[in-house]
Amino acid sequence: MAGSDMTRFIFVTGGVTSSLGKGIISASLAKLLQARGYTVTIQKLDPYINIDPGTLNPYEHGECYVTEDGAETDLDLGHYERFLNTPTSQANNVTTGRIYQSVIEKERRGDYLGETVQVIPHITDEIKYRIKLLGENNAYNFVITEIGGTVGDIESLPYIEAIRQLKWEMGVNSLVIHLTLIPYLSAARELKTKPTQHSVKTMLEYGVQPDVLVCRTEKPLNDPIRNKIALFCNVDASAVIESIDTSSIYKVPLLMKEEQLDKVVLNTMKVSARKGPSLRNWEQFIRRLDSPKSTVDIGLIGKYVELVDAYKSIIESLIHAGTTNNCKVNLRLIHSEQLDEKNLEEQLHGLKGVIVAPGFGDRGIEGKIKAIQYVREQGIPFLGICLGMQCAMIEFARNQLGLQYAHSTEMDPETPHPIIDIMEEQKKVHIKGGTMRLGAYPCDLKPESKILEIYHQQHISERHRHRYEVNNIYLERFEKAGMLASGINPESGLVEIIELTNHPWFIGVQFHPEYKSTVDKPHPLFISFVSAAKKWK
Ligand code: GLN
Repeated sequence: MAGSDMTRFIFVTGGVTSSLGKGIISASLAKLLQARGYTVTIQKLDPYINIDPGTLNPYEHGECYVTEDGAETDLDLGHYERFLNTPTSQANNVTTGRIYQSVIEKERRGDYLGETVQVIPHITDEIKYRIKLLGENNAYNFVITEIGGTVGDIESLPYIEAIRQLKWEMGVNSLVIHLTLIPYLSAARELKTKPTQHSVKTMLEYGVQPDVLVCRTEKPLNDPIRNKIALFCNVDASAVIESIDTSSIYKVPLLMKEEQLDKVVLNTMKVSARKGPSLRNWEQFIRRLDSPKSTVDIGLIGKYVELVDAYKSIIESLIHAGTTNNCKVNLRLIHSEQLDEKNLEEQLHGLKGVIVAPGFGDRGIEGKIKAIQYVREQGIPFLGICLGMQCAMIEFARNQLGLQYAHSTEMDPETPHPIIDIMEEQKKVHIKGGTMRLGAYPCDLKPESKILEIYHQQHISERHRHRYEVNNIYLERFEKAGMLASGINPESGLVEIIELTNHPWFIGVQFHPEYKSTVDKPHPLFISFVSAAKKWK
C-alpha cells in the first residue's frame, strides 16, 4: 500500500513513570498535523479489565468522559476533542476488557472452531484489528494510538507485541514515539538519562525500537544530553524531543512545534510535509490566557475536590470561557460534605459564581442543596450540571413549593415528593455498565428564555450521563413559582434545562455541556456564566 492519502499509524508509549502526559503529547502532535492540513484521530488503548471506565470510581480514574455516541471513556479523549475540535467515538477508546470480551464472544460463536484461543495470536490480532479499524477506508491521514500504562507492566505486554507486529507489517507507514522522564537530581545538579536508557531497553527486549523519544523534563536538555540519549537509545539526535514542564497544557503544542516534533514524525515516515503548521487561533488563545484583564472567583461544589481530575472537563471549560471573557477564572473547589448552615457564608464568601457538580449518590447532597439556596437568595450566578440541576430543583421544591421532604428517589426512595425520579424503562435495568442515558440527545429551547439568548439557536444537542430525570408531574408547580423548564427533549418530553425567571443568572442543565467545550469553540453556556460572574457586584 502506498500513496499520499493512505492512513499512517503512530503509536505513543510511556516509560519510567505514569502521568508523563502521553495524552497531551498525542493531542499536541495531532494538533500540529491537523494545522498542516492532515486529518487525524487519536485512540486510547487502556490495559485494564473493565469494559470501560463507566463503572470506575473517580478516585481510581478521574472523570469519565462521554462521547457523542454515548461511550463512557477515558478522560484523555476529552483532551483529544478539546485540542482537535473533532468528535471521538467508542472506537477511540478500547480496554483490555473489551478486547477479551470480543475474543470470548467469537470463541463461543465458534469463529475459532478447533483452535486453542491464546493471547498470541488471538488477543494481539484483536488489538491490531481495533487499531486498524480507525484507518478503514483511509478515513484519516494519521491514526495516533496512545497505549495506557507504562512499558514493563505485565498488562501492557500484548499491546507492545501488537505494535511490534504492526511495525513489522507497515514499515515506514508506522512510527513509535516513546515518552520518558529525564529526572533532575538537585544534589548532583544534573539531568539523568539512565531511566530513559532502561526504558528503551525494555522496549527493545520486546522487539520495538522507538523512532522518536519525547523526554519530559523540568530543565532544558542541552546538546550533550540529547546526543547521549540518541547514542544509547539508538535514535537520531533530532528525534530526541524535549518536553519541558509548562504552566498550561495548551502551551504544549507550541512547545512541540518549536521542537519540530511534527516535522521529525513526517520526515521519519517519509511524508513530504505540507506547509505549516499554522496555529494562529491557538496562539491567540495562549496570548489571552497569559494576559487576562481581570480575575473572577468561581466556586465548584462537589465531593471529589481533592482530586481535580474528577472535574477535568468542567475545569477546562472554565479556562476556555475565561479566556473568551479576557479574564482568569480563580477556581475554588468546595467540598459539599463540609458545607453546612453555619459555615456556608464563610465558604462561599467572595464568590461571583457557583457551579454545583455532577455526581452520584447521597454523600454531600445536603451541602449542595444549602449552597444552592444561598446563591438563589443572594442572586449569585449559578450553574447546576446534571446532579447540580437536580439539587437546584430539590431546593426549590422544598423552599419555594412547600414540599419539605422533596427529594430524588436516588437518595431517598421513600420520599413523598419524588421530584426527580427514575424512568419506567430504567426500572427494569439491573446491569450497571453502559445502561444510563448516555451520549447526545436533542433539546428544544423555549422562546424568550435566557437559555435561547445564550445558545442563539432553538435546537441544540448535548451529551448526557445519568439515570434519573425530572418528574414532569410537578412541572406546572415549578413554572408557576418561577422556575421555567426552558429546554425540553422533543422526543421524550424530558426536562433538560431549568432557569429562574427572577434571578440574574440561574441555570440548571440535565446534560454535560463541559464535554463539548474546545479551544476553538468554547461552550456558550460557560462563556455566558463567566461573563455573568464577571458582572456580578
Ligand atoms: N446521579 C444522577 C443521575 O443518575 C446525576 C448524574 C450526574 O450528575 N451525571 O441521574
